[in-house]
Amino acid sequence: MAYVIDQSRCINCSWCRRECPTDTIHYFDQEVRKHKIDPQYCIDCDICARVCPMDCISHEPAVVPDAQSLAAGKMRARAWARDRRQLKLGIRAYAESQVLKIARNGS
Ligand code: SF4
Ligand code: SF4
Repeated sequence: MAYVIDQSRCINCSWCRRECPTDTIHYFDQEVRKHKIDPQYCIDCDICARVCPMDCISHEPAVVPDAQSLAAGKMRARAWARDRRQLKLGIRAYAESQVLKIARNGS
């Protein structure tokens, strides 16, 4: 199963593309500049559908990625999760250093 975009309602805000953990939503690779999901790497996480302000992404049971592509999609998602964790840790370390600096300087 995979997700599909109803392009007639898509406003090209890119929210789905930015949040997709497998980087499988594309924009510029079509004749018409509209967002499209490459079903091969879709892991059915539902993130794109949740962030879409137009509610135009839905689950399509008839579209089924092959096992190899699905495994590749899951590997992409694991790398995405690792990167997000690193980013979060980096932001946290920076915030802590700023708090300590302010506490030391008293302002
Ligand atoms: S369901 Fe998940 S993996 Fe599939 S296109 Fe949406 S965000 Fe990407
Ligand atoms: S989040 Fe929805 S409206 Fe925005 S680009 Fe994706 S499909 Fe289109």
